[in-house]
Amino acid sequence: MEKYGIFGGTFNPIHSGHLMIAEYLREEMNLDKVIFIPTGNPPHKDLKISAIDRYNMVKRAISSNDKFEVTDIETKREKLSYTVDTIKELKLILKDVKLYFLIGLDTLFQLRTWKLFGELSKEIDFVVALRPKYIDISKINAEISYLQENFDTNIKIVHTPQLEISSTDLRQRIGEGKSVKYLLPSEVIEYIEENNLYK
Ligand code: ATP
Repeated sequence: MEKYGIFGGTFNPIHSGHLMIAEYLREEMNLDKVIFIPTGNPPHKDLKISAIDRYNMVKRAISSNDKFEVTDIETKREKLSYTVDTIKELKLILKDVKLYFLIGLDTLFQLRTWKLFGELSKEIDFVVALRPKYIDISKINAEISYLQENFDTNIKIVHTPQLEISSTDLRQRIGEGKSVKYLLPSEVIEYIEENNLYK
């Protein structure tokens, strides 16, 4: 049976931290592919950038990796969708593929607040990228136990390197006219410049 990683996020913009953990987890988990799913624009939150631009940036960022794919399943929707609906829809298309939801450590602590998380836990296993020197392992284990006991979640931890890059910092740097070279792929920097984003 083939195994795919699902990597969801706002990707506003996608950066080398995202790409590095997607590739690292793909290798460590023996995944045949990683599918990136940029989220739709939340109606209550002005992201100042279209979902299409975020999707296009992901598309450019992954173009040189034939194990990476991007889907517009969420960005093309008019209304915001729950992750569980997206996963159910994907499973209808990707029959006989085992799916793993890939997340960073900050997302681990948000999972319990996700709408219909219990239902999502029935549909998919989770893989958390953990940096080796993260000190508070007891906090992480406590969170994982909580999710297992309350939602029957299947979670695996994989140790990965960590690039301390955040989209929030990147938007600020670009706004200030500072260089973001090497923090994100050059194809994405070109897209941002061509479309005058984050100014
Ligand atoms: P923002 O700064 O706008 O909140 P973000 O990069 O934290 O952006 P997303 O684009 O939604 O947010 O992140 C998608 C996924 O990538 C999440 O699971 C998040 O935990 C993970 N992630 C984000 N940045 C990193 C990083 N530098 N290293 C590892 N994982 C990351």
